[in-house]
Amino acid sequence: SEYATIGVVTGANKGVGLATVRNLALQYPNSNFNKGPFLIYLTARDVGRGEAAVSQLNEDSQLRNANALRAAGGLTDIRYYTLDIAQKESIQDFAQYLKTTHNDGIDFVINNAGIALDGFNADLVRDTLHTNYYGSLNATYAFLPLLKLNGRLVNVSSEAGKLSKFSPSIRSRFLSARSVDDVTVLMEEFQAAVEEGREKDAGFPSAAYATSKAGMTGFTTVIAREEKEKGSEVLINAVTPGYTNTDMSKGNGTKTPDEGSRTLVLVALGDIGKQTALFWQDERPVEW
Ligand code: NDP
Repeated sequence: SEYATIGVVTGANKGVGLATVRNLALQYPNSNFNKGPFLIYLTARDVGRGEAAVSQLNEDSQLRNANALRAAGGLTDIRYYTLDIAQKESIQDFAQYLKTTHNDGIDFVINNAGIALDGFNADLVRDTLHTNYYGSLNATYAFLPLLKLNGRLVNVSSEAGKLSKFSPSIRSRFLSARSVDDVTVLMEEFQAAVEEGREKDAGFPSAAYATSKAGMTGFTTVIAREEKEKGSEVLINAVTPGYTNTDMSKGNGTKTPDEGSRTLVLVALGDIGKQTALFWQDERPVEW
């Protein structure tokens, strides 16, 4: 490949995802992967918003200066591709494209795309799980086989999905899950309980986003342990940007998008040794 390093960021047209692409480009020369040209796929579900984001980064003077200062080996290209994680065909299309375009594989994928809807009812829970849980899980399954042997998968979850929100029994089922099915069954139980108006009795919070993100951290750590047991050296971690000022937090977040992107950039590109199957916050692994 003409690129030494290839990365993918989903939901990257704005917010934490966009800042992550920008900071990956700026940090790359100092990274574990610094060995030649770098290609980042900025993906988005909407072509207009995605291409506008790429144009914005191509006009970014800090990025242009950084690129101009580097020797030929350090250039970064940012390329747009359409990816809607809520649609299986869209994930399959992008995975197929990557497979045929980059025979040597991909270095990292950051599954950042996610939604937070206002309100709480069974339909809203279904929509939230469809994107945040099942969409991210489908993306994880599609991209994992494309990673290089030392590649990394970074799933952007949330501190909202910490297990203190769940009953002791549900918490211990999240923590003792040994298969993805064990986690998916918890999501199914949550959905069914919400439909019957008894999610609190069943040990869940009345919160779709929080439960979807607990599920995301759960399946990520399960898949990471499975891969490690198979002898794979791919690093698979869940991360949170922390409470960040974006459209999702309606401008209330306390971190800037650049600050929010730090943990994502570290876990995708930085020196984290062989750490895998962990949940990261403020640039270090924490309990979830
Ligand atoms: P934003 O709402 O600003 O950005 C979310 C991004 O995800 C947008 O680019 C959006 O695209 C995209 N997206 C949504 N649904 C899909 C989909 N089906 N397919 C592809 N892309 C999609 O949120 P943030 O930047 O704040 O959030 C980024 C991640 O960080 C999310 O996973 C979020 O849950 C997580 N997070 C955020 C926190 C915060 O305080 N902001 C705290 C903890 C976690 P579009 O523009 O088309 O809607």
